[in-house]
Amino acid sequence: MLICVKHTSTESPSHFAALLAATRGIANGVAAQHAADVDKQARFPAETLDALRGAGVLSAPVPAHLGGAGCNMQELTQLCATLSQGCGSSSMVLAMHFIQVACLARHGLESKFFNDYLRELAQRQYLLASITSEVGTFGDTRSSICAVEQREGRFVLNKDATTGSYCAHADAILVTCRRDADAPQSDQVLVLVKRENASLQQTTTWDTLGMRGTCSPGFRLESSGPAEQIVPGSYADSSAQTMVPYSHILWSSLWWGIAADAVGRAANHVRGEARKKPGTVPPTATRLAEVSAQLQAMRQQWQSVAQAFDDAVQTTGGEQELLGMGWALRLNNLKISCSEAAPQIVHRALQILGVLGYKNDSPFSLGRHYRDVLSASLMVSNERIASKNASMLLVFKDSP
Ligand SMILES: Cc1cc2nc3c(=O)[nH]c(=O)nc-3n(C[C@H](O)[C@H](O)[C@H](O)COP(=O)(O)OP(=O)(O)OC[C@H]3O[C@@H](n4cnc5c(N)ncnc54)[C@H](O)[C@@H]3O)c2cc1C
Repeated sequence: MLICVKHTSTESPSHFAALLAATRGIANGVAAQHAADVDKQARFPAETLDALRGAGVLSAPVPAHLGGAGCNMQELTQLCATLSQGCGSSSMVLAMHFIQVACLARHGLESKFFNDYLRELAQRQYLLASITSEVGTFGDTRSSICAVEQREGRFVLNKDATTGSYCAHADAILVTCRRDADAPQSDQVLVLVKRENASLQQTTTWDTLGMRGTCSPGFRLESSGPAEQIVPGSYADSSAQTMVPYSHILWSSLWWGIAADAVGRAANHVRGEARKKPGTVPPTATRLAEVSAQLQAMRQQWQSVAQAFDDAVQTTGGEQELLGMGWALRLNNLKISCSEAAPQIVHRALQILGVLGYKNDSPFSLGRHYRDVLSASLMVSNERIASKNASMLLVFKDSP
């Protein structure tokens, strides 16, 4: 069951304002400073995550009555978009963590265990990771081969994951699996696996083009724990009502932040050129005007969907609405269009900067931005999403 959490952001805007100011400082001061090394070494952005923990940002989506900031979707997008301007990988880690916390906050609160767990998360600033991928399901998050086994109040869950971001650095992992050994592949549940009750054997490497700091190799997971760590209800509902909306909206906001930083670098260069010849407009300024329009259009896309999501949750809880095809199409369209826009915008910023942006050792370098945003269309394949849209559009006649 989806729990409608009354967001306290309007009651205590200063709490969110403080989190945003802290995140801005971390983006500029810590994340940006270490981003090149994180990327080069393909290492976890530990300094940034430590700073986010210190500022209490990891409990932003936890309801206020459990000690969090109770941030709504629009506020979480601002945190992700801000951090990604310093380091895309760090922001992807933060977004993925927010998505998992939101699943617990919106689907776990009928259980005493998850109330207590979220309170503890807020106090100790736990970091949550996610394993939906599995060897043999080919990127279909709504299908699992592994099953959770329950006996005498405890569970055992083993899974062969193709990709698991920062699992080795997380305090717990939310894992999808079949409800039991007899359940079909689509009858899934979410299980909270605590790091101390899990063994992770790394099965593949993570030497990728971009998003290198997410540290996302394959893992063989073996875990156990009390059965109360199984999230109530079905993953079919938590996926449609929370996992998919939070993923597509927060990812879009952070891809925008990476593109915005690229355009910001191009803009700095164009202004520098203008200062060299006062009274003239450099030819690249027109290109800058064009790309800034595209950047603005991208921002408006995720902002409007984030606002519509918050409105739906505030008015009706969004429970039934979010299960409908209208919302599925809207979210899928957002993901496809923002994941395609981000690399185009970075590419256009690169055309403005020329070789200065192409060099890895220049202050205007766009190599990391370009490589990071190329992951956007693959992170749940756009082809897979488009084929789901194609099936829905055969029967859904309203405009999404
Ligand atoms: C940076 C990053 C971080 C990630 N972090 C995590 C994580 O923390 N946890 C986790 O579980 N997973 C994670 N993933 C994995 C992600 O969720 C997807 O499962 C994965 O990216 C899909 O892998 P794939 O491209 O091999 O799979 P597929 O979706 O199977 O795609 C393979 C190919 O098949 C094509 N294809 C697929 N379906 C169709 C279709 N219907 N029609 C036409 N063509 C199709 C695609 O175009 C693609 O070329 C991460 C991925 C990235 C890039």
